[in-house]
Formats: sequence, C-alpha cells, structure tokens
Amino acid sequence: MREAEQLVKFAKKLKAEKLVCDGVNKGSISLRKSDGTILMSPSKLSYDELDIQKINMVDIDGNFISQPAPVSRDMYFHLEIYQKRQDVHAIIHTHSVYATALSLAGKKIPFILYGMKFHCRGEVDIAPFELPNTPECNEGIICHLKKHNAVLLENHGLVCVGETMQDCYETTEFVEHLSKSYLHALQIGSVKEIIEEERGYGNL
Ligand SMILES: [Zn+2]
Repeated sequence: MREAEQLVKFAKKLKAEKLVCDGVNKGSISLRKSDGTILMSPSKLSYDELDIQKINMVDIDGNFISQPAPVSRDMYFHLEIYQKRQDVHAIIHTHSVYATALSLAGKKIPFILYGMKFHCRGEVDIAPFELPNTPECNEGIICHLKKHNAVLLENHGLVCVGETMQDCYETTEFVEHLSKSYLHALQIGSVKEIIEEERGYGNL
C-alpha cells in the first residue's frame, strides 16, 4: 500500500472508531515516508472527505513539497518530533473522550497495566497546559516523548508516536481504552502501580 493511502486509511479508521470528531476536535495524523518526506493531514477537512489528493507534503524542515489543502498548525510539533526521534515514522494527535477526560483532570497514567511497556514505553505523562501550537506547548510535547510513545496534554488531548502507522494507531487506541479502564477503576478505589521490579524484561 502506498504511504499516502496508508495515512488516509488510518485517518478514516480514527473517525470510524470515534477516536476523533470533525472540526477543531479532528486532531492530526502524519507519516514519515521511506524517503524522509512527511505526509501531513490538512486543517479543516473531515477525515471522511480525505483522499490522497488532499494530503500536504513537506520536508523535515517544513518546506512544502506539495500543498493541495489548508495547512494544519499541528504540523510544527509533528516535525519537531520527527527531528528528535529518528525511530518515529507516524504521529497521531487526538482529543479522544477518555484520554481527554484524564487530561482535563490533570492526571497522568502511571504504569498500571503491563501492555503499557510495549505500546507506550512506560507511563503516560501529562504535559502542563500551554496554548496549542505555541513553542511552549510544542516543547512540552517533545520533552515527554523523548522516552515514551504517548503523552497527555493537560486540558487538551493526546499525542502518540510509533515506528509504523499501525503501531501508532494501536498505541492511540490502547491509551484510549486504558484511560477508560483507569477512570472506571478510580471510581471503585485506588489503583496500584506496577513498580519497576515487577515489570520484567520479556517481550510479548
Ligand atoms: Zn489538539
């Protein structure tokens, strides 16, 4: 599958699975191609209407190679992540319901489920609130993604990264389900963190 088609496929999957809405809650999705250029979802357009003709393409420094659709300002933090994390080839930003609920409550997700080791590379931190798409906001995102694959943005939403688009999508979905479970558990009682010594070193 061509890389642009892959981006469109996962954008539509995010919408179908209700991980994103239309309008300003649409978030953003991007993919680093094998030649190093970046494919980026546009602003304004619903993912339902997205096709490969409506994807913007930039180089790693943000110079446009093709710009057929309105530019998402999220592009700048996506580019910074790609610059700092050579292993990352896909980024998804959502305002999905349960992850955003935690972000509104200002709660990070401690290491409470073994699968976090593989999907998130540990706990899911929360970056303090900053106005979206400002250098301060972008710095908070980058800072927390140096070691991990997911970060909550206080009073905002979620950013996930992955070595592939499939990995990135699975982390986004995993964190949303985890957030839902965590919120339910918090209503019943306290939640035990899995401490470092209990985490093990094996692979799934
Ligand atoms: Zn956002």
